Amino acid sequence: GNLFAQNVCLNFCCFSKMKVANPLSEVGHFAPTTRLLCGPGPSNAHPRVHAAMALPQLGHMDPEFLAICEDVKKLLRYTWQTEEAFTIPVSGTGSAAWEAAVANLTEPGDVHLVFVNGYFGERHTDMAGRYGAVVKQVRKPYGETFSLQEIEEAISANKPDLIWLCMAETSTGAYQDITGVGKICRQHNCLFLLDTVTSIAALPCNLDENLVDAAYAGGQKCLSCPPGIAPLMLNERALEKLAKREQKDIKVPNWYLDMTMIKRYITAHGGARVYHHTAPISMMYALRESLSILAEETLEGSYKRHKEVSEFFWEKLEEVGLEMLIDDKEKRLPSLHSVKVPEGINAAEVLKNARVNFDVEIGAGLGELAGKIFRVGLMGHNCRKDVALTVISVLLDGLK
Ligand code: PLP
Repeated sequence: GNLFAQNVCLNFCCFSKMKVANPLSEVGHFAPTTRLLCGPGPSNAHPRVHAAMALPQLGHMDPEFLAICEDVKKLLRYTWQTEEAFTIPVSGTGSAAWEAAVANLTEPGDVHLVFVNGYFGERHTDMAGRYGAVVKQVRKPYGETFSLQEIEEAISANKPDLIWLCMAETSTGAYQDITGVGKICRQHNCLFLLDTVTSIAALPCNLDENLVDAAYAGGQKCLSCPPGIAPLMLNERALEKLAKREQKDIKVPNWYLDMTMIKRYITAHGGARVYHHTAPISMMYALRESLSILAEETLEGSYKRHKEVSEFFWEKLEEVGLEMLIDDKEKRLPSLHSVKVPEGINAAEVLKNARVNFDVEIGAGLGELAGKIFRVGLMGHNCRKDVALTVISVLLDGLK
């Protein structure tokens, strides 16, 4: 009896004397502000996507959930225009799918040729170096792009195992044409890894037609989905590289993103699905719904809307005397717009005014372009003329 009483007391004392006090009164009520997200991403998710996230959860091994994953894979193939079977959603943001490509396709000593014309080329350099790649860079000032001839010459000179290109540099607003690059990569026996984070659904990626071997994207930009789930495609050539590494028994040096294990869950790889990590159920619903919305609009419809709204935005900017960083309209993205900060203006103050007084988020310049540009995202659900006009009004208010 005494022992029982002692235990009860012990438990009670533990409960009553928590070392870390209950923070409820400090953290208060949870009520995030509704903001119009017109920076480099995330953009606002579509209301139907938020509604999908509130649907009841299934278990990650439930056949009904696995069927939803199959739908997502099918919809992703349409979105990217690829017939490759290994087109999957990765748990995490765009960088997780990116790191999955790097971790699985890099063997120590492999040469990666990185075309750096913005912040994200620096990220690939850092990431690939961590997996033992010998990274060679071809650099251009931020905002410029590479010609096919420059790409070919660099590949010939460096003989890489893999090249990395960013189709839509979110740090600058520059569009990199990828026509013809895949063919050159095949001639030189190297893999073509493409960043489509800010181009997916805004510009034709056409992965098969462009002979892209591996690609990744994010949900939170032109797909109108919140961040947290990221498309990845590995084609036959990429999977061959992975199979060779398996034969040599060189493990993928990242457990969480090891596609040799994940394929047993995400594809019906030779039988029953095998648990690897718990799939983010609600994020899968979100991506499922966002890709359906895109399919309803059609890819052509989405490209057309992004083009029309951006041309409208550029025209209206010109009317009020604001300039774009990139002169050549053909080299501008239809999703992310870099607007020059006028002489003598403190960019941070303008962005603060937008956020504090109007609940509008506009992006700041990154790296070399810090303080020099505003980055305006008109992406996915937010790619509308009314949103374009709102951004211009809010910028003008801050420039007064
Ligand atoms: N690549 C590009 C071009 C991006 O714009 C971003 C994010 O803004 C990423 C990669 C990384 O994606 P995430 O931030 O979702 O990890």
